[in-house]
Amino acid sequence: MNLILLGAPGAGKGTQAEVICEHLHIPAVSTGNMIREALKNGTEMGLRAKSFMEEGKLVPDEVVIGIIKERLQQDDCKNGFILDGFPRTIPQAEALDNMGIVIDKVIDIEVPDEKIVERMSGRRVCEACGASYHLLYKKPEKEGVCKCGGTLVQRKDDHPDTVKERLKVYHEQTEPLKAYYEKQGKLSIVTGQEDVADTSRLTLEALKA
Ligand code: AMP
Repeated sequence: MNLILLGAPGAGKGTQAEVICEHLHIPAVSTGNMIREALKNGTEMGLRAKSFMEEGKLVPDEVVIGIIKERLQQDDCKNGFILDGFPRTIPQAEALDNMGIVIDKVIDIEVPDEKIVERMSGRRVCEACGASYHLLYKKPEKEGVCKCGGTLVQRKDDHPDTVKERLKVYHEQTEPLKAYYEKQGKLSIVTGQEDVADTSRLTLEALKA
C-alpha cells in the first residue's frame, strides 16, 4: 500500500507514520528526516536546504523531488511506503504522479493552529534516529533519551517564531493538496486527539475504510 500522511507541521504525522509502519511493515519515508540527516552529514544537498529549513520555509521542489525519487526506487519500498512530509506542494504531488507512482490513500491529520503551537514547544526528537516524543503527550521512558539510546533535542525550527512561519507556509502551499487528493477520491480526514493512542486508532480505522 502506498500512503501519504498530510497535515500541518506538528500534527503528529511522524508518530502516526511509525504506527502504520509497525502495522503494515512498510517503511516510513520522511523528507524532513532525510534533509536533517543530509545536513548532519554536511552533504551538498544538506547545505542547500539549511537556510530554508531554519527559516521555516520549504526547500525548493526540485531538491526534494530528487531525494524522494531516489528513495522510492530502493528495494524496501517495493511493497509500499508511507510518505511523511511529502508532497508539500502541488508540483511535488504532480511529480509523484509523473513518476508513475500510484497512491492508494491519503490521510490528513487535522489539528487546530493554536494546538500546534502548544504541541511544538514540547516536541523533542532523537538526534540519532529521528523518532519524535513530547514532554506531555508522548514521554520517553527515560527523560531526554530515545528508545534507541539517542539523545532527545528540540529542533531549531520548533521555536515559536519559526513555527508561525511554518504554519503560514502550510496553509498557503500544502493545504491545497487536500482538494487535490479529494478530487482523486483518496482523502480521509482524521481529527487529531489529545491522546496519541486515540489518533492512532482513528488513523488505522481510516486505512481500513
Ligand atoms: P518536517 O520534519 O517534515 O516538518 O520538515 C522540516 C523541514 O524540512 C520543513 O520545514 C522544510 O524546510 C523541509 N522539508 C521537508 N519536507 C519537505 C518537502 N516535501 N518540501 C519542501 N521542504 C520540505
